[in-house]
Amino acid sequence: MSDPVLPTVASRPLSGPQKALLKLGLRRDIDLALHLPLRYEDETRITRLCDARDGELVQIEAVVTASEVSLRPRRQLLVTVEDGDERCTLRFFSFYPAQQKALAVGNRIRLRGEIRGGFLGWQMMHPAFRPAVGELPQALTPVYSSVAGLAQAYLRRAVESALSRADLSETIPMENLAQLDQKPIYSLRQALFFLHYPAPDVALATFEDRSHPAWQRLKAEELLAQQLSQLQARRARAGLQAPLLLPKPSGSEPLAERLLGALPFTLTGAQQRVRAEIALDLGRQAPMHRLLQGDVGSGKTVVAALAAALCMDAGWQCALMAPTEILAEQHFAKLVGWLEPLGVKTAWLTGSQKPKERRIMLALIASGEATLVVGTHAVIQDKVLFKRLALAIIDEQHRFGVAQRLALRAKLIGQGQEPHLLMMTATPIPRTLAMSYYADLDVSTLDELPPGRTAIVTKVLNEGRRDEVIERIRAQSALGRQIYWVCPLIEESEALDLSNATQTHAQLSAALPGVMVGLLHSRLSMAEKKAVMALFTGGQMGLLVSTTVIEVGVDVSNASLMVIEHAERFGLSQLHQLRGRVGRGAAASACLLLYSTGDAPRLGETARARLRAMLETGDGFEIARRDLEIRGPGEFLGARQSGAALLRFADLATDQALLAWARQTAPVLLDACPELARRHEQRWLGGKTEYLKA
Ligand code: ADP
Ligand code: MG
Repeated sequence: MSDPVLPTVASRPLSGPQKALLKLGLRRDIDLALHLPLRYEDETRITRLCDARDGELVQIEAVVTASEVSLRPRRQLLVTVEDGDERCTLRFFSFYPAQQKALAVGNRIRLRGEIRGGFLGWQMMHPAFRPAVGELPQALTPVYSSVAGLAQAYLRRAVESALSRADLSETIPMENLAQLDQKPIYSLRQALFFLHYPAPDVALATFEDRSHPAWQRLKAEELLAQQLSQLQARRARAGLQAPLLLPKPSGSEPLAERLLGALPFTLTGAQQRVRAEIALDLGRQAPMHRLLQGDVGSGKTVVAALAAALCMDAGWQCALMAPTEILAEQHFAKLVGWLEPLGVKTAWLTGSQKPKERRIMLALIASGEATLVVGTHAVIQDKVLFKRLALAIIDEQHRFGVAQRLALRAKLIGQGQEPHLLMMTATPIPRTLAMSYYADLDVSTLDELPPGRTAIVTKVLNEGRRDEVIERIRAQSALGRQIYWVCPLIEESEALDLSNATQTHAQLSAALPGVMVGLLHSRLSMAEKKAVMALFTGGQMGLLVSTTVIEVGVDVSNASLMVIEHAERFGLSQLHQLRGRVGRGAAASACLLLYSTGDAPRLGETARARLRAMLETGDGFEIARRDLEIRGPGEFLGARQSGAALLRFADLATDQALLAWARQTAPVLLDACPELARRHEQRWLGGKTEYLKA
């Protein structure tokens, strides 16, 4: 690879601009070469004053005929220039002596800026200028994104010299490039020079929408680098060893079969399919890395239980981790209910546990007596030693960081072995993202809801219609149905005038005599939370006022109404998840989204887009697609997800054909020309490649 631009000798301190380059991530020549312009300026033409038009952005070449500092109406440098027949006045309200000197009478200069014609003749305010020496440039002048302390002129020179030094040799064989749609095919060198220094007659529109073949080439390169890195992660994993989870040839009926027999329902087609996909993975030597995505209520838990059963049947331990204690507890209750009657011993781990109970649990886990361990983050703490962990299941995986997933993997005792990982999410990942950022994961999808679900009617209502909502609650409650009311924040903050859950609770309690109204928020102790949840799941409590602690996993099939207050403040996938708490039973269900515009006359653009999406679709995949559209991949994936560097040039919404090409090309290149593949990845991702993604 090319030499770094910056001195690597520690004794030479970096200059200000050099530090600024580092701040932009521009370390190597190739990094600078790939730092493409934001826009361009046209310095290739000179406009004569007699041809100029009012308000036009022009470059003028003229001779200074007068220069004076005037003090009225305020201090300014007034310079008169002439280009033959016409003259123009330049005004500078701030200026250095050196600039004044450069604008001395008799000097020939080139000026760039907006020109104004008026009563006083042509005028330019603070134009950019330089001595009129040398030829006019042949190409447009690039303008780069920069940071404080890094002048465009410096950055331009740095890019120019880096471009001349950088190794721009091809890493993609011509036969692969030939499969790109966009013709002509540019070489990397051509594409880069073209994009940094386009000819003045280039069709700027094709530059702006990045459809120009030079842009296509760069985006194809970038996507290929991403695919190569994911493919290598996948292959590295395939080389690892995990326990083979095959049923013991004992003759007794397998646990999974007994569980199926004991369930009060039969699996949906989607559940059966996913169950088989997982079983296949677990019977292989390579560790499973599977993402199970399924909309809220699609029945992921039972699939997890079946995977756990396969693992335990093979004589190994299984751990299930959930992001919140309430959710972990629900899983625990459900799994215990299903599996303990079949003879499975389960252990429970959480942060709020009493030391004595915890010690007992740790002993059960270490001895291997407990074959299923359910809990929160407590599961991955150092003190927790498994006897034979083979399968880790992570619910709501996006809520865990990479480090936590790695810690879970480290729990497998036994040399050179890796656990199988099953990650679950209710926020489906749109296809293009799955193909790019998650290309090293296998994805299973529950695309079918269990039978008997009722459609949820969604309504968006102004906060002013609160009374109607309360009437509706009263009616539902009279029918014996239960209701959720979600508030965004627990306490009044001065900055955000949000209604306070406590206040809402008081208000609703007063308005609904005869209905038991509970309050759940994050400040409650665990015991208090559990007591509230028990009353609600038990059916005694009619209305549960809550902050978003109920966001995930809660499963009460008698609940038929979900009210979300200040819905405009929630994210789209969060709203969808909350809505999924109702419509789980036979009763017709509804979700009411209350919004408030505050002092503004109407809601902001993105808030409206989110609420509109909620009205228009109930499909989790469509919601995810809209969410991606509203937020963009960076936000959608979230900081904790982006083990992979985000794409700079390609846009997954418009570049699906290029993505498909990159996916197809990556394995071909890696197999046929591993050295080229390595150089390609190095060039684009440098040291940023993260093979060990959990
Ligand atoms: P999620 O995918 O949101 O985690 P759950 O696993 O909590 O969904 O399942 C939601 C509800 O549907 C639970 O009450 C569960 O027992 C029930 N369920 C799951 N699978 C089926 C099925 N095949 N038929 C009927 N009910 C099912
Ligand atoms: Mg769930």
